[in-house]
Amino acid sequence: MAAVDRGRYRCWIGDREVTAMKARELGRGGIVVGDMVNLAGDVSGQPGTLARVVRVQPRSTALRRSADDTDPIERVIVANADQLVIVCALASPPPRARLIDRFLVAAYDAGLEPLLCLTKADLAGPEKILAAYEPLGIRYLVTGRPLDEPALNGLRAALACRVSVLVGHSGVGKSTLFNAVIPAADRAIGTVSPVTGRGRHTSSSALALRLPGGGWVIDTPGLRSFGLGHVSADDVIRAFPDLAEGTAACPPGCSHLGPECALDQWVAEHGGAARLDSLRRLLRSQSGLDPVEDRESGDEPARDQGGGAERA
Ligand code: ZN
Repeated sequence: MAAVDRGRYRCWIGDREVTAMKARELGRGGIVVGDMVNLAGDVSGQPGTLARVVRVQPRSTALRRSADDTDPIERVIVANADQLVIVCALASPPPRARLIDRFLVAAYDAGLEPLLCLTKADLAGPEKILAAYEPLGIRYLVTGRPLDEPALNGLRAALACRVSVLVGHSGVGKSTLFNAVIPAADRAIGTVSPVTGRGRHTSSSALALRLPGGGWVIDTPGLRSFGLGHVSADDVIRAFPDLAEGTAACPPGCSHLGPECALDQWVAEHGGAARLDSLRRLLRSQSGLDPVEDRESGDEPARDQGGGAERA
């Protein structure tokens, strides 16, 4: 299933696009972008026809979010993706490592492989960001403007035959990347719904676009925040493998927030103070000790034109 718009699901059977509605027998179960579904009824895809989604196949991965970090109620936003492309500008707006960390936690929680895509390298070099993330074994791409052929080839190779979710706040060049890999992605994202005939894709839900050579890229237009309330503290720490060794001397069940935590001492000897700070911010915001400040809409005025509701 590639998109949903006002209760109509856009599905693909091979090259055929089929519009479907949820069958009553499916009950209250949700269908999200990326779901593999069974269709019944008229699956010809002819104009005016409507198939029925009768079954949702088990998901191999599920990208989740909660409304905020203290909210344990999670929503699956994309199913069956295998890669989370974290798009981050090197300047204008400046990169925010804590936001990258937040996305990494979401990726590991969901079972997606992260890929760091650093844009606007014509304005600033990637060295500082790479110094922090390359040692973690995180794959990365660096692109400048205009997108040159080597960068474009690297991007295409990284996305080929995979199901990738692109995340990043406005102004980082996400749509430039979409347009580079998918001809007329702009038009597809701002598509006129074949069912309602209305204008832009205005819902905050995700939208999957097919890559010409195979694979899918999924945009999450309304996704401005990424609450991690459903993620356990252990999962948060998994996103910080560089600090794992330092937790060996922690007392059992350490919250890594109190004075008994061994990480302070370890960081003093091995370095990584900024990473420890980031880890603790995530842990604190999750346990409700801190106001959530690292949301995508955090320190920048929202410039989202899609008007995506944050809590749909
Ligand atoms: Zn600790």
